[in-house]
Amino acid sequence: MLKIGCHLSISKGLYNAAKEIVSIGGNTFQFFSRNPQGFKQKEYDDTDFKKFSEYSKENNLFKPLCHAPYTLNLCSKDDRVKELADLILENDLKRLELYGGMYYNLHPGAHVGQGSEKGIELIAEALNKSYKAEYKSTILLELMAGKGSDIGRSFNEVAEILKRLKLSDRFGVCLDTCHVFAAGYDIVNDLEGVLLEFDKIIGLKYLKALHLNDSKMPFQSYKDRHAALGEGYIGLEPFYKIINHPVLKELPMYLETPHESLSGYEKEISLLKKAYHD
Ligand code: FE
Ligand code: FE
Ligand code: ZN
Repeated sequence: MLKIGCHLSISKGLYNAAKEIVSIGGNTFQFFSRNPQGFKQKEYDDTDFKKFSEYSKENNLFKPLCHAPYTLNLCSKDDRVKELADLILENDLKRLELYGGMYYNLHPGAHVGQGSEKGIELIAEALNKSYKAEYKSTILLELMAGKGSDIGRSFNEVAEILKRLKLSDRFGVCLDTCHVFAAGYDIVNDLEGVLLEFDKIIGLKYLKALHLNDSKMPFQSYKDRHAALGEGYIGLEPFYKIINHPVLKELPMYLETPHESLSGYEKEISLLKKAYHD
């Protein structure tokens, strides 16, 4: 069965978000661990979590994916920003243990002029420090579009981080279709070749989740601008191939497309479900 959902707000709790995703035909969702631009986090609500767990079981939902704030930069040059990032990572991982462990997706960071090698070192060091062996979560490094000094613009950079992790089998990679397309991986004309390269450089066993987004910017533009499926430079057809590819079809997939209301996601989910071969 296709594991499909979209990004949702959990301002009204996990239980509400789960009901929302079911109401639009999905069976998993993504949420921010805290305010994506700032760092505020809601208190842990045990009643909500219990209702959510029960509802998830009844409705056969796949565990949601938790996304770290965009502003988290594990390789910032600024001491205060770096300290805050380390603290947030530590606290987010602790919170996820209360949820029994989840996928925790993060943008690796931006080296802001220090060079990617230094950035990679700092990111790996922070992850090694915060991730405890007893944790049940899996941290996913998201492949990035390559804007500014973002780390994770290439399979190589992500592989270099993974290589430095002590508990690397507790880590994985999230492939965002918009990002990799913008970064110059041709998933439109050569999906097979991209996956072969992923396997050679990172290893397909690390691929744990997908973000399904079309791209407002052309191939190799290194710009991160999501478009609704079929409304960008990727087009609809490649998404049908992606969701049915034997290597990808069992992975959870999350839409982060720009829509004013849930009905936009509902349409995309329904398109994808129709195109999916069980
Ligand atoms: Fe992301
Ligand atoms: Fe993404
Ligand atoms: Zn993006």
